[in-house]
Amino acid sequence: MMAALEDVLECSLCLDMYMKPKYLSCHHSFCEQCLVAYVESNNIRPGGDLVCPECRQVSKLPVKGVKGLPVDFNMNKLLEKLADIFLCDVHKKEEMKLFCSQCNVYICLVCHASKHNGHSTKDINEKYDEKKNECNDKKEIINRKKNSLEYNIQLAKSSKVDMQIQADDLEKLFGIEGNKFLENIIDELDRMKIVTKTRA
Ligand SMILES: [Zn+2]
Ligand SMILES: [Zn+2]
Ligand SMILES: [Zn+2]
Ligand SMILES: [Zn+2]
Repeated sequence: MMAALEDVLECSLCLDMYMKPKYLSCHHSFCEQCLVAYVESNNIRPGGDLVCPECRQVSKLPVKGVKGLPVDFNMNKLLEKLADIFLCDVHKKEEMKLFCSQCNVYICLVCHASKHNGHSTKDINEKYDEKKNECNDKKEIINRKKNSLEYNIQLAKSSKVDMQIQADDLEKLFGIEGNKFLENIIDELDRMKIVTKTRA
């Protein structure tokens, strides 16, 4: 998984990728284990006030403790799907780490050693930075977090040659707030997967 992607999908308590994310009433998510540790170190009792480590909004800690908090299924799904998209289509278990400038596709190291042997390649993160610059002009309509997600979708899109999703579709997608936003990204990723499969 790339560093930039991790930024978006990272728990602000452990600064790592979410593990079993649960969300508070302010809709900020944290790993279950991180919340357990947070609750313990702040001596929060079941039914007591849980101050969000990110926005300071107060939620009630359920009677069952952290276990009683709702699971962030959307984030879970998103994590799975993003991980899946960055796997090589040919070598299912290999992460795509390079961009082949010659064939205009993202490839894994096994691809590089075989089919793309001798082709000029770029590090995938370098390619990501280029994409990011292309997207800069849209910044004023979307906030930072949504922006990063858009870059990732753009990146995922460009990894599959000639995706059918147009820029205005994306704009529509990012105009939608809250939970709906994640759901839409998940739909979009599903759609991309289908397009890829039909073309393969
Ligand atoms: Zn965490
Ligand atoms: Zn919060
Ligand atoms: Zn491969
Ligand atoms: Zn190539």
